[in-house]
Amino acid sequence: MDFSLSREEALFRDSVRELGERYIRPHWVDLDEGRYSLLDIIPRLAEHGLVGFTLSSKYGGSEGSFLMAAIAAEELAYADPSLAVPVYFLLETAWPFIVQRYAKDSVKEEVLPRLTKGEAWIGIASTEPQGGSDVAGERTEAKFMNGKWVLTGEKNMVTGVSIALKLPYGGGFVTIVRTGPVEARHRAITTMLFMVKRNGVVNTGFETRDYEEWGRRGIPTGYLRLNGAPVDPDFVLGEVNGGFKIAMEGFDIARTLIGAAAIGTARWMLDQGREWIKNRVVFGKPIASYQSISFKYAELSARLEAARLMVYKAAWLTDRFYRGEGSISILDIANVGAMAKILAVELAIDVGLEVMKWFGGISYFKETPIARALLGALSYYVGAEGTQNIMRLIIARNIIGREVE
Ligand SMILES: Cc1cc2nc3c(=O)[nH]c(=O)nc-3n(C[C@H](O)[C@H](O)[C@H](O)COP(=O)(O)OP(=O)(O)OC[C@H]3O[C@@H](n4cnc5c(N)ncnc54)[C@H](O)[C@@H]3O)c2cc1C
Repeated sequence: MDFSLSREEALFRDSVRELGERYIRPHWVDLDEGRYSLLDIIPRLAEHGLVGFTLSSKYGGSEGSFLMAAIAAEELAYADPSLAVPVYFLLETAWPFIVQRYAKDSVKEEVLPRLTKGEAWIGIASTEPQGGSDVAGERTEAKFMNGKWVLTGEKNMVTGVSIALKLPYGGGFVTIVRTGPVEARHRAITTMLFMVKRNGVVNTGFETRDYEEWGRRGIPTGYLRLNGAPVDPDFVLGEVNGGFKIAMEGFDIARTLIGAAAIGTARWMLDQGREWIKNRVVFGKPIASYQSISFKYAELSARLEAARLMVYKAAWLTDRFYRGEGSISILDIANVGAMAKILAVELAIDVGLEVMKWFGGISYFKETPIARALLGALSYYVGAEGTQNIMRLIIARNIIGREVE
């Protein structure tokens, strides 16, 4: 067992940290306020090999490990604690990787090199208006007609549709559709890459509109209504009716990186808090001298360290799984990835609430930015890539067994 990063990993961490400080930190508040666009940051990330980070160099990827991806997600979140940039990074790490594993060569050769250049988007369209947790129960239908799959239904809270429409190539969404009866549950689920725009040409049969978020407002999320939207059969990922496991694999990867991003935002809030409590003098002493504050700081620091170790473990297991090393199964990754998301996201929420208390009343105003970071972390507390209860369900099912259902 080795708890230190390799020289290569440490240098990489420092380079992402520097990139964050120079090009992201100066804009994060403007990004959150809509005065700056993610489209201005994407080329910079692409230049640094951070778009499609784990993809093969054949497609312009960096062939980075998932551990390095976790390191990058933490650093990007430290630079943009409202989480728009790290969410972009992690989506474009997890879902293009799934496309690389399961798409036909012709699709990979067309889309992935454009993605790594920052000209295309790949996201996930899973959640529906009647719920997102029960993926096997999803209702959006795909019917094969006249040589094409035709999609009907509604996906809700899909991140990035409006950005994909603005990128030069466009982009697609790993879309979870039903290709058999509802009663067949996960055995009738297929994943397809539904292209909203391909090679500059906008697809037909869909409508979209962004919602207005409370937080992480630099990366838009909205609905995707599918009303006869066509999908070329080549854009089916894996086998028809074999999509449930593919979708779960993508969620497992994404959750570990979400944990890493939550740690970055928690570390940033805690650092802001430390400076404040050392300098804020009340009753003639810095408030750090009151143990109700310094002990809480110590406890949150310990939890941060523990959550980071769990994220690293999940990323390390993911790397070993994909290298075919050892006896690691996808269920191990699901289990530890869910643990990482629980610990890191709940830590970020607790840190945000505590640091706001240390700042006192001024934390309630935009003069102090802690609430911006807290609202970003909240996106992963209430939803996005599986709720915290669903993480508990995954762990309980893995450890206790099917009796939990
Ligand atoms: C900012 C943001 C961005 C998002 N981006 C995307 C995206 O790009 N693509 C996408 O597909 N989705 C996206 N989502 C949606 C997200 O994945 C869903 O919110 C999430 O999966 C939960 O679905 P739901 O909100 O419909 O809650 P529901 O599934 O309706 O669940 C409601 C509540 O019941 C609880 N619950 C459900 N089942 C159980 C159970 N068995 N035991 C205990 N409690 C249970 C849940 O934990 C939750 O608290 C995004 C969400 C947010 C907030």
